[in-house]
Amino acid sequence: MDKCSFCGREKKDTNLLIAGLSGHICDRCIEQAHDIVLEELQKKGDFDVNQLELLKPIEIKDFLDQYVIGQEEAKKYLSVAVYNHYKRLLQTNKNDKEDIEIEKSNIVLVGETGTGKTLLARTIAKMLHVPFTIVDATVLTEAGYVGEDIESILTRLLQVADYNVEAAEKGIVFIDEIDKIARKGDNPSITRDVSGEGVQQGLLKLLEGSIINVPPQGGRKHPDQKMIPVNTKNILFICGGAFDGIERKIGHRLNTQVVGYSASKKKDQIDRDNLLQYIAPQDLKSFGLIPEIIGRLPVLTYLDPLQKKALRRILTEPKNAIIKQYEKLFDMDGVKLSFEEEVFDYIVDKAIEFKLGARGLRSICEAIMMDVMFDMPSKDETEVNITFEYAKEKMGKINIQRLKAA
Ligand code: ADP
Repeated sequence: MDKCSFCGREKKDTNLLIAGLSGHICDRCIEQAHDIVLEELQKKGDFDVNQLELLKPIEIKDFLDQYVIGQEEAKKYLSVAVYNHYKRLLQTNKNDKEDIEIEKSNIVLVGETGTGKTLLARTIAKMLHVPFTIVDATVLTEAGYVGEDIESILTRLLQVADYNVEAAEKGIVFIDEIDKIARKGDNPSITRDVSGEGVQQGLLKLLEGSIINVPPQGGRKHPDQKMIPVNTKNILFICGGAFDGIERKIGHRLNTQVVGYSASKKKDQIDRDNLLQYIAPQDLKSFGLIPEIIGRLPVLTYLDPLQKKALRRILTEPKNAIIKQYEKLFDMDGVKLSFEEEVFDYIVDKAIEFKLGARGLRSICEAIMMDVMFDMPSKDETEVNITFEYAKEKMGKINIQRLKAA
């Protein structure tokens, strides 16, 4: 009796059974095998550096512009960094004979929370063809303490690369809240600083480029867990942090620097409302990052605080702007959703009034839209218009403390 050598089905139970030299295969197994082949090819293609389409910095920035409002300098710096990262990968791939080795330029993004640091990182990730992961520095502690070891950063990268070590070694890691591992206080001899200097030393090893033994499943190291060696030489690190209070250090530096006869003139030119734009490596040092780390993060850029105009644009302009999302939700029920223009200004004003930032836009919208989202699907209406009066009425009923906590 002929049977499929893969699934064991008998010929009468298949649509087709193809004979090979020493076995048979049925139509179903052929299809399944075909899917597996496609999937594997795609996986390889995803991270195949030779297939990289080298987008120019301007093209990368154009892409970022579709999702992130403002933050021109940060976008420019990121675009160039990613472009150079790709070029370096292509170079190492070709095994260039020339001695000029392009060093990687890891980046630090400094900006208040909610100004778009993570959004920039996520958006970049959408267009990348190298493994990418976002990790939170607050969970990192020195080996032996509660929390995650530094190596766990690479575990995450390995996981997104499907344990393809070669691909992971060309990846990009976004380390969020890097400011949280700054040394507390200026005293370097402070008694064991679990989340501070020790972690920075550990991180330094990754940034410098060395071979790190990574526990494949993450978490604590088990003595019997087989480690995977990963070389971090070509991994690009992008770090982000709010560095709360760093403006004071920048201001202080600017004040002490500006002495001498041109002092008063220079002081006039300083834009005191946005001191972050003057950020320099020594400010990171005053904040508590060790000089070795700062040296390994040569590209330093900042994000602007979001003013009214930017918040207003964020509401409606990005490709997946909050308002567009509501319109889409309603559209799926066959309902055309529209807003009076004043509603948008009102939402932005409230976000500013309660110091909620860009994240607050969403919670305010939810507060305004909740009732109509609850009722609308059971009604026969095909159009909904949110008026200024309606928005004001709904906001009036909201507990602002709850919005703040969101
Ligand atoms: P951060 O990482 O700086 O704390 P996020 O990137 O997480 O801030 O921003 C929070 C949310 O606010 C984002 O998901 C996005 O919806 C919105 N947002 C913040 N900044 C911008 C921006 N510049 N352009 C568009 N949306 C933004």
